[in-house]
Amino acid sequence: MYLKTVHVQNVKFDNYSMEEFLQIFEERLLNEEKTFVVTANPEIVTKANTDPVYRETLNKADFITADGIGVVIASKILKTPLKERVSGFDLMGKLLHKAEQLNLKVYLLGAKDTTLEKAYKNIKAKHPKINIVGRHHGYIDIENEDLVTEIVDLKPDLIFVALGFPKQEYWITKHMHRFSKGLFIGLGGSFDVWAGEVKRAPEIWIKLNLEWLYRLIQEPRRFKRMLVLPKFLIKVLVNRK
Ligand code: UDP
Repeated sequence: MYLKTVHVQNVKFDNYSMEEFLQIFEERLLNEEKTFVVTANPEIVTKANTDPVYRETLNKADFITADGIGVVIASKILKTPLKERVSGFDLMGKLLHKAEQLNLKVYLLGAKDTTLEKAYKNIKAKHPKINIVGRHHGYIDIENEDLVTEIVDLKPDLIFVALGFPKQEYWITKHMHRFSKGLFIGLGGSFDVWAGEVKRAPEIWIKLNLEWLYRLIQEPRRFKRMLVLPKFLIKVLVNRK
């Protein structure tokens, strides 16, 4: 039996499959219910345990999905298994598809200007009918209200915020109250993948739960950051009782 919510190192994950999340999100989008989604990997969970402000921010999320396989493994160690990994990148792909089907308005916020432009072109090529109402690079001051006003006026349904954590979650919780509707989701480096600047691992690597290794080979400079994963799993093992 699956629990509806699963706690991993004090972060409360919603235990839905990708398809279940999509159904819930579609309903909320059609009802114009405001929604804040966090796609949390072990780095985010680790930060939530060391930074009370970030933890409070995550507590405001309507939904938290397990972005990394590390979180799913941890849930199994804790004997409260999560159904599956629901990565930000995959979720973005499915939401773009929904947006095109349902003619929802999409806003893209994040990444470097040139990266964003490439991502925008590739999204348009894959989803020719998609309604992207605006976009802006992510090197912004999160206090900047002018940009927010601009986005609010566009009345987007889906606001993809790819500023990396924790900036993306801070931006969303700081400004979401100004919008009357919208699904806000933090997506880390997803635009870099859409731009073709970072490659997603081939399917077989993902199936074997080795996407992290693929990423490490591609971007060895991430090595230090990736040490978070074994450290995180050791903590889960030690604290499991
Ligand atoms: N980024 C941004 N604004 C910033 C800092 C970063 O838009 O002030 C972008 C950066 O260009 C990249 C993404 O945020 O596209 C972060 O990617 P990373 O893979 O480091 O994020 P993670 O998935 O680990 O949160």
